[in-house]
Amino acid sequence: MDATAMHLVWGVDRYRVPEGTRVDLDRLDPADRSLFPGSKREARRVLAELRDRLAELQRVFWADGRHGLLVVLQAMDTGGKDGTIRKVFSGVNPQGVDVVSFGKPTELELSHDYLWRVHRHAPAKGRIGVFNRSHYEDVLVVRVLGLVDEERWRRRYDHLVAFERLLHDEGTAIVKFFLHISKEEQRRRLQARLDDPTKHWKFNPADLEARARWDDYQAAYAEALSRTSTPYAPWYVVPADRKWYRNLVVAAVLVGTLEALDPRYPPPAVDPASVIID
Ligand code: AMP
Ligand code: MG
Repeated sequence: MDATAMHLVWGVDRYRVPEGTRVDLDRLDPADRSLFPGSKREARRVLAELRDRLAELQRVFWADGRHGLLVVLQAMDTGGKDGTIRKVFSGVNPQGVDVVSFGKPTELELSHDYLWRVHRHAPAKGRIGVFNRSHYEDVLVVRVLGLVDEERWRRRYDHLVAFERLLHDEGTAIVKFFLHISKEEQRRRLQARLDDPTKHWKFNPADLEARARWDDYQAAYAEALSRTSTPYAPWYVVPADRKWYRNLVVAAVLVGTLEALDPRYPPPAVDPASVIID
């Protein structure tokens, strides 16, 4: 990686939520680009570097097989979860990555505890699991729409921390992203879905209902981020009004996270020098 890419990998720590801090989303600028003053064109080049590094790390990570990596993506509608997956993971071997989207729970899922449907998708060793929405919906949409009593969702912060602790203890690294967009940027993106025929399919009138509860969602996010960011499963609040900056930040965090795991190729099962292939 070149110096600019390294600078990003080192710098993204500023977006990590330290354990036990109270997050005030109003004070975190969704249009921040302080780690990359360069042009959008330069950003594309740096993203390509980070992507190459990610692909390289993933190959070793997969061969190593000691850990899994869980990547959680949360955002308001139009926040860029799908775009992030497309742009950041496009260089990685698709065989090693599982993307799972969590929508409204089915009746079967609702007849179990809320982590039941989640746990089975936690990544196996050597694999990267990407959650497009996640177990966090159970303290977000569920809280905002009052789908269960407050007493019940309040207890879930502790469950979430304990669940992630379990995954961590058993070999899964975890990193969580909140793609932070402004309400104005959401308006633009929703409008684009109405204006552009190729985006009509993405427009969902339900998004307007969620938008009408913007402040409630921001409050729910702020509390979830404040209460569930831990050293072993940290949250990153990613400035996401600029898609290219968002991609750089997410890619840089992933590179840093995988590097910290220090994946290595396992020793050969046989002494290669002793094998003769005729
Ligand atoms: P989308 O991601 O646009 O396909 O929408 C998925 C929808 O499922 C969103 O409106 C989420 O809020 C909703 N959803 C995801 N998880 C849950 C959950 N645990 N309870 C209720 N709704 C959920
Ligand atoms: Mg949607």
